[in-house]
Amino acid sequence: MPMAIVVLGAGALDTARRIQARFPQSRVHGLASRVSADIAYDDFGAHVRGLYASGAAIVALCSAGIVIRALASCLADKGNEPPVLAIAQDGSAIVPLLGGMSGVNVLAREIGDALQVAPAITTSGELRFGKCLLAPPEGYALADIEQGKRFVSDLLAGATTRIEGHAPWLDDAALPRNDDARLAVRITPLATRDENSLVIHPRCVLAWIEDISHDDDVAERVRAALNERGLAPLALAALTAPARYMASRPLEDAARALDVPLRFCDAPPFARNDARGVALHVSDTPIDAGSIGHARGTLTVIGLGPGKAELMTPAARSALHDAQDVLGYETYVRMAGPFRDDQRVHITDNREELQRARHAFELASEGRRVIVVSSGDPGVFAMAAAVLEALDEGRATHPEWNAVKLQIVPGVSASLATAARAGAPLGHDFCVLSLSDNLKPWSVIEKRIAHAGEADLVMAFYNPLSKARPWQFDRAIDVVKRYRDSDTPVVLGRDIGRPAEALRVIELGELKSELVDMRTMVIVGSSMTRVVGDWVYTPRWYD
Ligand code: SAH
Repeated sequence: MPMAIVVLGAGALDTARRIQARFPQSRVHGLASRVSADIAYDDFGAHVRGLYASGAAIVALCSAGIVIRALASCLADKGNEPPVLAIAQDGSAIVPLLGGMSGVNVLAREIGDALQVAPAITTSGELRFGKCLLAPPEGYALADIEQGKRFVSDLLAGATTRIEGHAPWLDDAALPRNDDARLAVRITPLATRDENSLVIHPRCVLAWIEDISHDDDVAERVRAALNERGLAPLALAALTAPARYMASRPLEDAARALDVPLRFCDAPPFARNDARGVALHVSDTPIDAGSIGHARGTLTVIGLGPGKAELMTPAARSALHDAQDVLGYETYVRMAGPFRDDQRVHITDNREELQRARHAFELASEGRRVIVVSSGDPGVFAMAAAVLEALDEGRATHPEWNAVKLQIVPGVSASLATAARAGAPLGHDFCVLSLSDNLKPWSVIEKRIAHAGEADLVMAFYNPLSKARPWQFDRAIDVVKRYRDSDTPVVLGRDIGRPAEALRVIELGELKSELVDMRTMVIVGSSMTRVVGDWVYTPRWYD
């Protein structure tokens, strides 16, 4: 679960960083007008509500009242709430507010440990029993939350309970135990329900799906098989299937519907007892799905945006969070970090793109969750095309690459980020060109510029200049000048969205290679592009 540490001003930054040191994957979100943090926001209420909706744990370094008021309108659905805590700016008080079922008290204790203060735990069951009965540990699932709440209320009112089944985490809980009690905590994979029981299912059932057809409702088949044996769907630990079904859509849908991991094996991971397509195996203790067969590997190509964390999409951020292996050119990998100890980082030279793409497929074929990072958008002069080239060329000799789950997550490209800073120079038809002749002949570049010039398109130039390509930029501009007046507005964006950001607006007549480098985006206007005050724009109409 991603964690957001939210601060309103610089006074809280010290405490925020101390908490972050304990949770390295967390990010500090700061109010843009007052403090510079990892991620900037403008409106506290809207930002916190967005985080809440995305399911992120929220650690807000401000008064509890501010947080409560901000989230008041989202509190109807108790089942899905993430942990929310208010923490005093100076770290002297920790108040868990919401998310009892998602471990807010555990989180509060951990933060308390980091800040050396006792958290203000207010959950009565937890205070009395030293454990939250309704938040069992990993490997177990609570059957019915409403029933659970009634059960805990009964215990708090003085009732006693038995424990049926194996619940090692309750061994040291201060429960009012009594072997003859009417109430029972029951640890069982069976789908049982009665008003005297708090039912907790160990995730100890494996399902093996032997055959799958195209329009198969696999989830329904699994539910029916479980039902036949009286087993609860929540007791399911994983779906397993032959590796040939790795790319099967019905199987993926079923795993999502049943909310369990999907694992692939060459042979059934247990002795089969059922010939009807779904075989079940019930173990005595929870099953760690990660120890069975292997997962379908994923390869996700993401764009980080131009540099600033706030211009990275939430989808890219969540892919980074889930990744086991991260591949990319050093600068971009740095931009994407920091990484956790369990994440492997593979840094490569900027020019070894195809090699990097092949390596990514190899890792993903082993079942790993791999991401390849690009700056801006991964599909614009970047890794997404390299990854598809590698697949195109390698899929025959490496058939296992075809089963990798490939995804491409878009990002804010440098031309768009630069345009937004300058106004709206791309407000009408435009084209995007790379001036690098590493992978295409210079003659093609000149021809394309000439055609774009003739078509009166706004032109966004990537890769304008490098040490290895010293003369090309001036040649390109000479071609542009054949089609454009010398007072045509030109936008030069350097390091946009990064600390050294610099934006200049000049006229085409002034443009020369000394003004640009590899970190510059050049946007040359059309005949319609104009300047208004500090802004550059291309109107939506044409005459
Ligand atoms: N995939 C990237 C582009 C990679 S090509 C994207 O979509 O943005 C690299 C070129 O992009 C650089 O030579 C430069 O022209 C431009 N560029 C990338 N990031 C930039 C930034 N932050 N500011 C200005 N130009 C940038």
